[in-house]
Amino acid sequence: MQIAPGLYSIGQKKGGNVHAYLIDDGGPLTLVDTLFDADAGVVIAEITRAGKRVTDLKQIIITHAHRSHIGGLATLKKLSNATVYSHEIEAGIVAGQRKATPVGLWPKPPLQVYYLQAGLALGLSPHVPCKVDQALKDGDHLGPLEVVSAPGHTPGSLAFHWRERRALIVGDVVASWPSIAPGWPGLTLDNDQNLKSVGKLADAGDAEIVCVGHGGPIRQGASSILRQLRDGKTPAGATIADDIGN
Ligand SMILES: [Zn+2]
Ligand SMILES: [Zn+2]
Repeated sequence: MQIAPGLYSIGQKKGGNVHAYLIDDGGPLTLVDTLFDADAGVVIAEITRAGKRVTDLKQIIITHAHRSHIGGLATLKKLSNATVYSHEIEAGIVAGQRKATPVGLWPKPPLQVYYLQAGLALGLSPHVPCKVDQALKDGDHLGPLEVVSAPGHTPGSLAFHWRERRALIVGDVVASWPSIAPGWPGLTLDNDQNLKSVGKLADAGDAEIVCVGHGGPIRQGASSILRQLRDGKTPAGATIADDIGN
């Protein structure tokens, strides 16, 4: 579903209500993350709904190398031959050269996603590997997006700032499901560092929209919500788009 001009949210129940985002600003068609399913069917359906074809896809950006976000990557690369981008720290995991750093097995919140925590702890559910073509780092620009390094959830986690749309795409630095929180503690490698990244994004500029990796995008008051999360408060009254596919 379109949440701002040229910005589309794509949700999938599998992989913990995971979300990807399509950017169609008149430049190269760009996808941020690829959802859980290896066939990328949900992503391709949204590209079609947006009036494009999968062969129009020119750039695929990976926020970080966790299974729910890179499931459809290999298929989408094959169908589109888009250029694949990630932080260099994550690239080896995306390419299948090493496994994602495991988290602990001891249950941490949210317990609704303990199966994902256990999967990451035990290295279950591998993705289809795909080579990363180009590395991104803090301050890079890609089309309308400014790259913001946001480590903590993983060391190479990236966020993206689309200033003209007052939108931040933040991967798993913030989650909106099952509640708005500074990420999921059970799947975050360094929660203190992640909270610092939340603060960095809160200070990145006056944003209205936060596109999160799990749960629908937060549609209003993004910067204020990020500041509340940074300060350990529970944000009230946020508007979250409900756009979950299968
Ligand atoms: Zn993650
Ligand atoms: Zn995730």
